[in-house]
Amino acid sequence: MKRPRHQGYCCYCKRQLTPAEPERSTSLTRDHVNAVCLGGGRWVPCCRKCNMLKGDLGTADWFWFIDTHPRWWKRFDTNEQVKRVVREFRFAQAMARKAQLEREEAIAEARARRAGRAA
Ligand SMILES: [Zn+2]
Repeated sequence: MKRPRHQGYCCYCKRQLTPAEPERSTSLTRDHVNAVCLGGGRWVPCCRKCNMLKGDLGTADWFWFIDTHPRWWKRFDTNEQVKRVVREFRFAQAMARKAQLEREEAIAEARARRAGRAA
């Protein structure tokens, strides 16, 4: 097994990891993910806080979240809060897709009406 590249630092927030102590948010934990994308093996070192916030979130959702929420480890406290943010984003995305489809339908209808009049 290859050693992860970010030894000593959390691979998500890049804070320096401290030895495993339950009270510290920067304590070293292992995140068992498909870590190949991060240059690691079957797990990556990450801090207690990131591990807790990530929880059962899928990799794609977690990366979206950390990309769009700078200093998330200071701003969020629970996995539930993170999941709510992701759910709201997915919902907004779905609404935007629906609105886009409706616009396209309206345009197609208008075109069909114009073509009908021309004939
Ligand atoms: Zn971290």
